[in-house]
Amino acid sequence: MDETSEYVCPHCGESIQIVVDASAGSVQDYVEDCPVCCNPNQLRIMFDREGYASIQVEPS
Ligand SMILES: [Zn+2]
Repeated sequence: MDETSEYVCPHCGESIQIVVDASAGSVQDYVEDCPVCCNPNQLRIMFDREGYASIQVEPS
């Protein structure tokens, strides 16, 4: 089941929507290039018990 969440890019300030997958683990770290400004962001996605995603983002 796909779910979308969003984060604010620290480089350009745009809100970025991404598809998150809770079945891939309750904490997921990965680097994704911002689709707006193309700078890399280090994302940490955490799921709570209800499967709600929260995202921490740092410039990579
Ligand atoms: Zn950006």
